[in-house]
Amino acid sequence: MQAGRVIKVSGPLVVADNMGDARMYDMVRVSEARLLGEIIELRGDRASIQVYEETTGLGPGEPVYNTGAPLSVELGPGLIESIFDGVQRPLNIIRQQVGDYIIRGVDVPALDRERRWEFKPRVEKGDQVQAGDILGTVQETTLVEHRIMVPPHISAGTVTEIFSGEFTVEDVVVKLETAEGPVELTMMQKWPIRKGRPYAEKIGQCKPMITGQRIIDTFFPIAMGGTACIPGPFGSGKTVTQHQLAKWADAEIVVYIGCGERGNEMTDVLKEFPGLKDPKSGEPLMKRTVLIANTSNMPVAAREASIYTGITIAEYFRDMGYSVALMADSTSRWAEALREMSGRLEEMPGEEGYPAYLGSRLAEFYERAGCTICPGTERREGALTIVGAVSPPGGDLSEPVSQATLRIVKVFWGLDASLAYRRHFPAINWLLSYSLYQDTVAPYFSEHLGEKWNEMRREAMRLLEEEAELEEIVRLVGIDALSARERLVLETAKSIREDYLHQNATHEVDTYTSLRKQFRMLELILNFHHEALRVVEKGEIDLDLERLFTLPVRERIARAKYVSEAELATLDSLDQEIKEQVASLGGLEGGEEDA
Ligand code: ADP
Repeated sequence: MQAGRVIKVSGPLVVADNMGDARMYDMVRVSEARLLGEIIELRGDRASIQVYEETTGLGPGEPVYNTGAPLSVELGPGLIESIFDGVQRPLNIIRQQVGDYIIRGVDVPALDRERRWEFKPRVEKGDQVQAGDILGTVQETTLVEHRIMVPPHISAGTVTEIFSGEFTVEDVVVKLETAEGPVELTMMQKWPIRKGRPYAEKIGQCKPMITGQRIIDTFFPIAMGGTACIPGPFGSGKTVTQHQLAKWADAEIVVYIGCGERGNEMTDVLKEFPGLKDPKSGEPLMKRTVLIANTSNMPVAAREASIYTGITIAEYFRDMGYSVALMADSTSRWAEALREMSGRLEEMPGEEGYPAYLGSRLAEFYERAGCTICPGTERREGALTIVGAVSPPGGDLSEPVSQATLRIVKVFWGLDASLAYRRHFPAINWLLSYSLYQDTVAPYFSEHLGEKWNEMRREAMRLLEEEAELEEIVRLVGIDALSARERLVLETAKSIREDYLHQNATHEVDTYTSLRKQFRMLELILNFHHEALRVVEKGEIDLDLERLFTLPVRERIARAKYVSEAELATLDSLDQEIKEQVASLGGLEGGEEDA
């Protein structure tokens, strides 16, 4: 093979000439150490290469070998439970082999070549199959059935042989006769990371992804196959929120891409994630998770590739017909890697030094989300939902990464430093955040919870908005300027914030709230509001608001969040109690007179 020649090394960027007929995004091996790199710019036969490994000691004159293939990921059994770096090197295996530091040029395949998987055929000899059809299955973990599909590039063919039993990912399991001749298929396929995998059709999103997080499901829902971002300053709860979503969202597969904020933060994720439990099955969450990890001491270029590696793996599981949730934490670190590479390429810098194509790269990434009809004869639907965290320096959302992201994603969960400071978690600001899926998913909620749900949701949000206005008045002229009704609005809004929106991720029961329970909790808060409003509006001059606000039943409303799903019925008596206790104050019928 003809070899190129290094003419310049600038950190992770290597420039080589004599690259012959290399193409953009070809994968190359640099120097005799065979460092992994990818061509990111081509001018004539001169190529700029981003190198995914430490380039110290590398100098001009060293050879560059073109593999002639784009940077790709291996897709097959063994993905689940793996921890990969940004270019899909299995970190757990490498660590066993060479210790904590990745030795340069180590060539460990992404998928284990030794391990045998039990392949159960789903088609028979003589069957007609086409790209995307499921040929057989492998029980990859207790939680995931891996569906072995005909790879996208294969045109229709006839099964001439199919084997059952235990195989490695390199063994042939199916033989096909196609128009282009015979084809042998293994359980593994490859796909270039920068290109979205094909699907038959994109379909509209209509179902929410239920997360069990009250502020999200109630006020800012994300659709299955949708996109969301969580921007927030350091310490505001981005990671906790992403972990909560990974654990509780009703997606079947989780792909978590971690780009460390600081040197050892990613090691925390590496330690923490394997410890997380899948609440539905009680098994480790890793049994349905693929983890991509970049510590900040890994070369920046690998960080740049990591989101593509992650999303390609996510698309592969989507193609099997699964709902997949992809979390990227944080995309700001990815954008910084992009900026660094762009700087070294001496490209014209855009805002704050980010390249002008920052927005289009982000859009390309988020556009790979969606609900799709999978390729193949049998109809299957898959969904890929993307949630990206953004960490704007100082929490200032006007910076380029936040701005570019907000233009693309449909849900914005804005984390607020002052809420986090007051220990109101999740610190999602209810006045700033939005979800553009609200109307899309409203029919789903009406169908499952009744139209009353949408009404309650709107009323609760109105109360929170009114609270913000009233607080302004209070600041200017004091609480005495408010009418009894307005004081009640403040009280109810406080209850919505503290008893409903505040949700403790570490509390055994509070960490997840089903839709049924969310409905019930909100209903209780609003029931109290309506009952109280009746007495307030009756205009009782000597009505003691303090007593109204401290009625014993309010304590029970506040504690509803700690009532387990199984004991929800214990809340049934509360409606009557609210009625009676409020009426007893206001002298309305239905309650005993209170002296
Ligand atoms: P970030 O990733 O934005 O830097 P973290 O997700 O690490 O912030 O959150 C910082 C701290 O805030 C956590 O260690 C935890 O104590 C607290 N926290 C955040 N969200 C919650 C929550 N939903 N429930 C309880 N505590 C939370």
